[in-house]
Amino acid sequence: MSEHLLNELREQLDEINGQLLELLNKRAALVQELGELKQKSGVKKFDPEREKEMLDRLISRNQGPFDDQTIRYLFKQIFKASLQLQEVEHKKELLVSRKRQSENTVIQLGEAVIGDGSSSLIAGPCSVESYEQVFEVAKALKEQGIKLLRGGAFKPRTSPYDFQGLGEGGLEILRKVADQLDLKVISEVVNPSDIEMATQYVDVIQIGARNMQNFELLKAAGSVDTPVLLKRGLSATIEEFLFAAEYIVSRGNSKVMLCERGIRTYEKWTRNTLDISAVPILKNESHLPVFVDVTHSTGRRDILLPCAKAALAAGADGVMLEVHPNPSVALSDARQQIDIPSFDQFMKDLRSSGLYRETQN
Ligand code: PEP
Ligand code: MN
Repeated sequence: MSEHLLNELREQLDEINGQLLELLNKRAALVQELGELKQKSGVKKFDPEREKEMLDRLISRNQGPFDDQTIRYLFKQIFKASLQLQEVEHKKELLVSRKRQSENTVIQLGEAVIGDGSSSLIAGPCSVESYEQVFEVAKALKEQGIKLLRGGAFKPRTSPYDFQGLGEGGLEILRKVADQLDLKVISEVVNPSDIEMATQYVDVIQIGARNMQNFELLKAAGSVDTPVLLKRGLSATIEEFLFAAEYIVSRGNSKVMLCERGIRTYEKWTRNTLDISAVPILKNESHLPVFVDVTHSTGRRDILLPCAKAALAAGADGVMLEVHPNPSVALSDARQQIDIPSFDQFMKDLRSSGLYRETQN
């Protein structure tokens, strides 16, 4: 083969590549337009019958040298990429997405500022058990300069025979202690009809992992003004997690914080598997603040510190952990809560790691 002919054929190929590229993008632009139209009229994006029709028409016109199977394969790839393009476009429209709002959502809770680049810490017992128990933990938080107190009053327990929480009485205790020590309070609500009531006591409504897809609860939390901490479901994908947040934001409550708390895998040496990769993904995909619950994700006191450091290093806005004055007699999660001296040590180590960014004001 002469050098000249080779170059000529290559030039022709380059020319055709260019034309194909142009045509593919021309097609993609049409697909985007079609996607928007479908979105507006509520028509499903994927239409298998239409796809079959297009493929059949192409095959009937195929004169080779590609065989029908290859043509089918190649066009299927084009169709698949087009569908993905429509999905990306659709995602772009989520209110929680970074494409929709490029700047971080910043939530102010008294002196605590969440999402502004500083680190926040939420700590407190798994369950509210008594005034004295909550006060003792809250005092320890106060001494450490921590402003966000947690405690469960409505406990979603695996067994119906386990302690279910003090209910509204538990919220009363939290509020009283928080007011005495000038802290902000976060507590879980499990029933949509309790949301209104809870807003009279708490500064942040927590929606727990088991309720991440309780859509009525999400809608109820979206209808009030109180900030919400939404925890990732036990086996929820990141996409499902963001859609759950969208339920709240789309109802009008934009003050949502996301909390990675581990997902269920086959691993048995931790209670759940902390998905640290979810942190930078969520930060990239969404403008909402991201927390990591190191207690429920690991279920192990001995690795709370490295996991908290990993969370902050990965870009988390804050860390949550459970602290109890006497974990061995705790009414829930006795094996994973830490006592007050351990909490003080945890804070000291976290601060000296340089990863914990103290709030500016
Ligand atoms: C909790 O934070 O009290 C709790 C029950 O956590 P999760 O919903 O993540 O299991
Ligand atoms: Mn717990």
